[in-house]
Amino acid sequence: MRPTGALHLGHLTGALDNWVRLQDEYECYYSIVDWHALTTDYATPEGIAQNVLEVGTDWLAAGLDPARSTLFVQSLVPEHAELHLLLSMVVPVPWLERVPSYKDQQQQLGEKDLSTYGFLGYPLLQSADIMVYKAAAVPVGEDQAPHIEMTREVVRRFNNFYGPVFPEPKTLLTATPRTPGTDGRKMSKSYGNAVLLKDTPEAVRAKLKTMVTDPARVRRTDPGNPDVCPVFDLHKAFSTQSTQEWAAAGCRSAGIGCIECKGRLADHVIERMAGILERRAEYAARPDTVWDVLRDGSRRAREVAGATMQDVRQAMKLRYPIA
Ligand code: SF4
Repeated sequence: MRPTGALHLGHLTGALDNWVRLQDEYECYYSIVDWHALTTDYATPEGIAQNVLEVGTDWLAAGLDPARSTLFVQSLVPEHAELHLLLSMVVPVPWLERVPSYKDQQQQLGEKDLSTYGFLGYPLLQSADIMVYKAAAVPVGEDQAPHIEMTREVVRRFNNFYGPVFPEPKTLLTATPRTPGTDGRKMSKSYGNAVLLKDTPEAVRAKLKTMVTDPARVRRTDPGNPDVCPVFDLHKAFSTQSTQEWAAAGCRSAGIGCIECKGRLADHVIERMAGILERRAEYAARPDTVWDVLRDGSRRAREVAGATMQDVRQAMKLRYPIA
């Protein structure tokens, strides 16, 4: 996860809930990828360290458990960079140019100069992030699936040249329910439409109150269509089945008003967030504890990554009697 600052409901539904569950089934490595933040924010790196702390705090609050999973910071494991460099020797440039997000993001972030070497190479850095742990599987949403596919190609190419060092990672496709922000667009901190994991119940209620609804429902007496309403998308992610049925029926018959509907949604979101908010306050009061977790995790990650790099150097004939 890139350190973009305080996390929001979209991170919870799109990644963290699933990551917490995966801890029961897999030996998991979760990384705050600060170098990836630099691929787009190289001109303004000032906020990255604080953002790493925010993400670490939110992870622990959401239930990632350092006793079961390795939680670490990418740049504290420099083996990622070494593997990225070595992979860059064997991966053809067109493989990177054809990654769908390359041109998309360049257009979307048009105000930044993303004609850099680092930005072109970021999917290969992701491959290194995965391969340096000889990962068997990677949980991703559909939009990231092409990156895992490319990683499999990189693995095959590497193994073809140098022998079977890496396994091909599987894609663990995660259902990512639509989580719109208060303006109906995808929830994102940069759009200013996000409900944050650290928001108080009052703030959650106030933000959801301003949320856009079915635009065709102008008056209280107009029936609405929950299928086109962003508020209902959040009901599907956070409310009980009976509340969802109540909202859908009440909306279609104009039996309920939008304020009432949003109020009930806020109840469910606040209930879901109560434990997270409580744990978050505890960790936020003890940032040293969060840094300790990330330092210990980074050390653990380095041991595994270091062993992989021994295999890689051996396979690539980079062994010398003086090393
Ligand atoms: S009643 Fe609920 S689902 Fe229907 S338009 Fe209003 S907020 Fe959306």
